[in-house]
Amino acid sequence: TYNGVRPPDAGQPIQYSNGSYTVPNHPIVPFIEGDGSGRDIWKNARAVMDAAVEQAYGGNRRVEWFEILAGEKAYRLHNDWLPQDSVQACIDYRVSIKGPLTTPVGGGIRSLNVTLRQTMDLYQCVRPVRHYPGVPSPMSNPDEVDVVIFRENTEDIYAGIEFKEGSADVARLREFVNTELLGNTKKRLRDDAGLGIKPISVHGSKRLVRAALQYAVDRGRKVVTIVHKGNIQKFTEGAFREWGYEVATEEFRDKVVTERESWILGALEKDANATPESIAAIVEPGISFAPASFGEKIVAEVKSVLASIGKTHGNGEWKRKILVNDRICDAMFQDLLLKPSEYDVLATTNLNGDYLSDAAAAQVGGLGIAPGVNIGDGFAVFEATHGTAPRLADQDVVNPGSVILCGVLLFQHLGWNEAAKLIEDAMEQTIQQKFVTVDFAKGMEGATTAKTSEFAARIIQNM
Ligand code: NAD
Repeated sequence: TYNGVRPPDAGQPIQYSNGSYTVPNHPIVPFIEGDGSGRDIWKNARAVMDAAVEQAYGGNRRVEWFEILAGEKAYRLHNDWLPQDSVQACIDYRVSIKGPLTTPVGGGIRSLNVTLRQTMDLYQCVRPVRHYPGVPSPMSNPDEVDVVIFRENTEDIYAGIEFKEGSADVARLREFVNTELLGNTKKRLRDDAGLGIKPISVHGSKRLVRAALQYAVDRGRKVVTIVHKGNIQKFTEGAFREWGYEVATEEFRDKVVTERESWILGALEKDANATPESIAAIVEPGISFAPASFGEKIVAEVKSVLASIGKTHGNGEWKRKILVNDRICDAMFQDLLLKPSEYDVLATTNLNGDYLSDAAAAQVGGLGIAPGVNIGDGFAVFEATHGTAPRLADQDVVNPGSVILCGVLLFQHLGWNEAAKLIEDAMEQTIQQKFVTVDFAKGMEGATTAKTSEFAARIIQNM
């Protein structure tokens, strides 16, 4: 039992081995309802998910939901904000879904998200961002935005290795860096600086980019963009970029073409008489001003690309491969505004991903309905990306879209794609009918303001 509660008798746990899930027809899926508006949202989102499964598979499949406690409800019933049993249930049943939880003010309370992320090593934070026609957006063509952001979830400055200004530890670290590492240079850390450490590892980078590439392969996406700040932070962000390309070209060779390779193969296609030298000048337009050694390096690169993948990816074949490119993070923000249709799957480090996912969601007016999932190997926790909206709780007014779309992601993750599609299409249709909750109705001309329950009921009706 979990907190004295038995899991449902009817279902079976989802299993995982050798990199894939085995999903029974009646999987047990633990859920945390969430605090505040989570209560309004969950019961309606669940009704939508159940209706979709029923419609897609008749009586053959059904999710056996298993309520586990966290947050206010757990505190009220068990005097514990985060019962260990709830964490254990997420581990035992592998795939779970949670509503927003109050973060109690005052320290000493473990955050559920941090605990789950660490115990299950949930290294990918995945956020799809697309526009639903009709949703108010600040962009003129929001429909061009359709990206899935893979944010690394365990490293970067989020590793929490920080030292407070004025502390004994910061003094020791500063002393070490200044004398042992910076001794011969003019660089010095100031006495009044706090210090933070940004770890970016081969392991952490490669597994994240690998997951993004695999997603693109599985779901027929066309472009994977590595987003980084490698021009400034060479050995962390720059390394992330390098390792990302390594994964692409070493582990997904037959399925990908890098942007530079596409230039090389494209140049040869345009002009069959092109030489490695003439192609090099296209790949690096400034080459004639560069030192000869640089020119030789690029010519060697061109030759090597032609010799290695020229046969498999040549003759236009490269256009059918997944394009792997990279962008500096600040340029990425601009591009998502100015030419969003060029982007598809984005793979990035933790901090970049944090900023980028919220900015992208805001672009399509979707912060209120943005779903997310934290994924590890054989584990997934789906969650709304907004908070508990406490002032709107228990009034049947909030937008349940975020958790409903978590349901879409959940079913896609389990391979129940028919149910996922039913929900997504019906929600799109409902929004197009301008039958929306007040947060959307405010910005939509001619909209009908629906209660949370009415919006969910209409989605079910539209399936
Ligand atoms: P919030 O997301 O709850 O609210 C921000 C604004 O968005 C508010 O105006 C709110 O009314 C509106 N809003 C949010 N969700 C909505 C919905 N579904 N439909 C309509 N409007 C919606 O953020 P906050 O006010 O900063 O935080 C409130 C509480 O939520 C805090 O206790 C915070 O710690 C917690 N929180 C939890 C999570 C989580 O568990 N994942 C995330 C963020 C905040």
